[in-house]
Amino acid sequence: MHVMVLGAGVVGVTTAYYLAERGHTVTVVDRASDVASGSSGRNGGQLSYSFTDAMASPAMLPKLFPIIFGGSTAFRVKPPLDALPARWGWAFLRQCSSHSARSNTLAVLQMALRSSALLAELRSRVQFEFSFRKATKLMLLNSQSELKASEEVCAAKRQHGCKVRVITLAEAEKIEPALAHIDSRSIAAVYSEDDEVGDSETFTQQLRQWLTANHDIEFCFDTSIDRIRVEKRKLYSVETDGSTFKPDAVVVCLGAWSNRFLKPIGIKANIYPMRGYSVTLPLGEKPSSVSITDLENKMVYSRLGDDIRIAGFADIVGFRTNADTNRVHTLLSTARKFAPEIADYDANSVGEWGGFRPMTPDNQPLVGPTATEGVYLNTGHGMLGWTLACATGHDLANSLEKRQTG
Ligand SMILES: Cc1cc2nc3c(=O)[nH]c(=O)nc-3n(C[C@H](O)[C@H](O)[C@H](O)COP(=O)(O)OP(=O)(O)OC[C@H]3O[C@@H](n4cnc5c(N)ncnc54)[C@H](O)[C@@H]3O)c2cc1C
Repeated sequence: MHVMVLGAGVVGVTTAYYLAERGHTVTVVDRASDVASGSSGRNGGQLSYSFTDAMASPAMLPKLFPIIFGGSTAFRVKPPLDALPARWGWAFLRQCSSHSARSNTLAVLQMALRSSALLAELRSRVQFEFSFRKATKLMLLNSQSELKASEEVCAAKRQHGCKVRVITLAEAEKIEPALAHIDSRSIAAVYSEDDEVGDSETFTQQLRQWLTANHDIEFCFDTSIDRIRVEKRKLYSVETDGSTFKPDAVVVCLGAWSNRFLKPIGIKANIYPMRGYSVTLPLGEKPSSVSITDLENKMVYSRLGDDIRIAGFADIVGFRTNADTNRVHTLLSTARKFAPEIADYDANSVGEWGGFRPMTPDNQPLVGPTATEGVYLNTGHGMLGWTLACATGHDLANSLEKRQTG
């Protein structure tokens, strides 16, 4: 089959890999001049197989008021709520029950654990460098209620084969001595033994090169998709600013921009662009080796090669980017206060970056065929697109094959 992959982020390029490995002829299209220009650029770098917890949960409900009215560092909602479609907000609220939070968390956990095995397989095949490391992870807990909730969720995750447990702060400091130099009010930590790190931008660039050298695949950059054309509930063509393609199937991997192309053809995807930021700094005097998550500020610290990547925040501002400089400054000052010696905050270059996470209300990506023949989705990976890319790319290729043989 000739399959067109729309979007060359980590999800699109990994999808292309699984499709090409099965012998399909693949064309990947992106409006940017290279891969990973969207959310797959300088994200947190964490392959977070164990922290798959859904954002929509009962614990989120009491936080909503301060979030909406500006009392939270981690979130920015401006201008007030007009940027958040009511349909998304309502669907998110409906996922905030304990039952939904648990089932969403465990569904993504299973996907993440599969992704870990698939990435190991892919690495052994392609053998390129992307600062990959089994870093393990410590998520700091600040209150008794967080501790109790974490013990419960860790027990449920262990039943699915995930190596995750709550440990004391003293145990955490033994695992990561840099914690002794962190200014936090933590009382305990969740330790994830199998979590990894890697640079998703380098991975995507290297995978593109490997695919070009080894498969029948074409990358069309600087090509803006205008629309997907459907006739009689069947894919007809994909129109770009330069030409019209008539593939056998199309896979929408357009991340936060997916709704724009799906709505006109009657596919309701409900994906919201949640803005986050990162800085990449040289190591400080007391750098960490283990990945650290500061839950309160929604920030992660990952060591990628000779750098520390600090990423976080979850802004509800639509596609606006006008406050990026302020938000990056807040990210930096929060990090400097929390972990003053982890990174060299006075470095000349801070590597500022912002990206739109493609968030679904239930934290679950949309993967597989749609009611429109020939149109497939692999989008809506939210906070975990880098972690889940292998599992969802693999699932997508399976679903296409099933349709073909069925
Ligand atoms: C601050 C931050 C930290 C994060 N940290 C982590 C982490 O530690 N671990 C993790 O697993 N995930 C993390 N994520 C989430 C992860 O980055 C995303 O889930 C993932 O990158 C989504 O990949 P994607 O390929 O679906 O989307 P994208 O990478 O955004 O790709 C979509 C592509 O579509 C293209 N496009 C859009 N419109 C058009 C058009 N009209 N024509 C042609 N092309 C178009 C864009 O150019 C883009 O290349 C983080 C995200 C952020 C913002």
